[in-house]
Amino acid sequence: MFRQRLSFVAGLTAAGLIAAPFILPYLGFTPTTINRILVWGVFGIGFDILFGFTGLLSFGQSAFFGTGGMVAAYLLTIINLPYVMAALVIGTIIAGIFGYLVGMIALRRTGIYFAMITVAIAEVFFFVEFNPLSAYTGGENGLPGVPSPSLYLGFTTINFNSDKSLYTFLAFWFFIGMVIALRIVRSPVGAVLRAIRDNPLRATAVGHNIHGYKLTAFVVAAAYAGFAGGLLGVMQGFMPPDAFMFDTSGQLVMQTAIGGAGTLLGPLLGATVWLYLSDFLQTTLQLGAAWKLVLGVIFVLLVCFLRRGLIGGIEDLHAWLMGGRKKGEPAVDKTLTNMTLNEEKAAKDAIAFEPVSAAMPARHRAGDPKSGIILEARALTKRYGGLVANSDIDFKVRHGERRGIIGPNGAGKTTFFKMLTCEVPPTSGQIIFEGRNITGLIVTDVCQLGLSKSYQINQLFNRLTVRENLTIAALADLRGKFRLDLFRDLRSISGLDERVSHTLDLINLTGRVDTPVSALAYGEKRRLEVGLALATNPKLLLLDEPLAGMSPRERIETVALLKSIGQGRTMVIIDHDMDSLFELVESVTVLQEGRVLVEGTPAEIKGNAKVQEAYLGGMHDALAAE
Ligand code: ATP
Repeated sequence: MFRQRLSFVAGLTAAGLIAAPFILPYLGFTPTTINRILVWGVFGIGFDILFGFTGLLSFGQSAFFGTGGMVAAYLLTIINLPYVMAALVIGTIIAGIFGYLVGMIALRRTGIYFAMITVAIAEVFFFVEFNPLSAYTGGENGLPGVPSPSLYLGFTTINFNSDKSLYTFLAFWFFIGMVIALRIVRSPVGAVLRAIRDNPLRATAVGHNIHGYKLTAFVVAAAYAGFAGGLLGVMQGFMPPDAFMFDTSGQLVMQTAIGGAGTLLGPLLGATVWLYLSDFLQTTLQLGAAWKLVLGVIFVLLVCFLRRGLIGGIEDLHAWLMGGRKKGEPAVDKTLTNMTLNEEKAAKDAIAFEPVSAAMPARHRAGDPKSGIILEARALTKRYGGLVANSDIDFKVRHGERRGIIGPNGAGKTTFFKMLTCEVPPTSGQIIFEGRNITGLIVTDVCQLGLSKSYQINQLFNRLTVRENLTIAALADLRGKFRLDLFRDLRSISGLDERVSHTLDLINLTGRVDTPVSALAYGEKRRLEVGLALATNPKLLLLDEPLAGMSPRERIETVALLKSIGQGRTMVIIDHDMDSLFELVESVTVLQEGRVLVEGTPAEIKGNAKVQEAYLGGMHDALAAE
């Protein structure tokens, strides 16, 4: 998916744009409607990057659409700037700047609160346009007399002042907008945006500054909106004040949902359906005010029955016709879908019995000291109200050590890991990583320093493939926590493919590389969970119950994998399966009621009376019999 064929999609877009003015009039579209579709299409590309790719639902895009349009129209009508393109670019830049400022505020919250802030801010823009700034914006009259664009060629000037010539102008800019967006979604930034949409918590934990990337998507969407607003004024010869209205934002959201979010072409298709129906219901059927009612019903039906919009529906139909999979099911790696169940089992068995990368050396970052303490917790305490989850924990891990942590349910193991990776702040105490006090840092920075964790409950990017999951984790290490390489091809990042292949080998998922996470077996998901932490190239790897929920067979496989992964690597592993854990580690810390009960080698822990008494409980007899 990250590697969408740009030339194919761009070619398809160009062919559609060339064919549209010949075909659409026969279907009842007026030239003005066709031009309006393109304006909404440009508006929608930016919105799709924000909503479809990043998962941020804004109901405030009218603010930027109106701002870009009004600035361009003001420059062209009141200031009499003679260059239409210059006015459009200035409008776009100003919309982008406002996008940055609004994004800084709105992105402080997520989900419904983010959406509500965008609505509120757009209402502020609407008020300001109508009242304090009416001398500049024309208030409720808008700004008439916006000139049409022209292109000076030296020997002649082309004026885009007819519907047909305006179509060429708008189609050209739609095409450019589409190519830019395709570059963005194929870039490393595009990959991180999808990761944020799927699982912001994990995107942060593997080392990405997700606030920076969300803000980037917000600014990009605002810039597209501003440019589209400018195009609207130029197309109509008039900049309408209703560009700022909530209706505009709502219509954009509905068009994108109808066409299909996360497809870039979806909003254009949605606008085509929307504007056609709006014309048809009002003009042909003469429904008067009832047209919105009918349109609303059609919208509800489309969204209910085509959850991924028209483009998603077309994709599902195509996949169903080609591969026989049911509509709505994720695409599954063909090599596996074509196997019979027995073949699949045989293939898995073959994977299970392969000697797993045993000869593969563990990787260290350059400059790693090879001895001494890598991590130290000093008097680490965590209180949740009156409950003490961790109390005065002193803990040290040496470079190259493999440490296990055990303890009964509720002993505070996961809380301890969360504090070590700075997911939750300690109530008191300090965490020292490679001699540096990291207490109070954020999880992204801790991961960037080389401390990474796999989760007790899978935190994967579920709509992406195995390769894409690992790519996202590897990108954080290879590019740092934030970089605006918006137009860089993912393939050009040196070391990325090697990192992904190496990790695939380590977790034994090479045969499942292009399989979506949703189609993986549970044991495979657990291995990918470990792979995400590994792909960040950590100096210290924390594994929180990597064997949790696995069948006995999967445990045997995974223990073999972890043994090979652990060679020469510094790891701390929490698990309840002591037999497996004792095979993997050379020292064990036992937690009980949030405190360190005892530390020692697996043999010492097995024979320790305090441990048997306090922790092993019912298993006391079984262990004693060994
Ligand atoms: P398990 O083996 O079942 O995963 P654990 O040893 O990992 O348990 P923790 O999950 O760290 O234990 O929980 C330790 C204690 O802290 C428990 O009593 C738990 O209920 C409590 N606790 C953990 N997280 C929170 C929270 N966010 N708010 C309040 N209490 C919490």
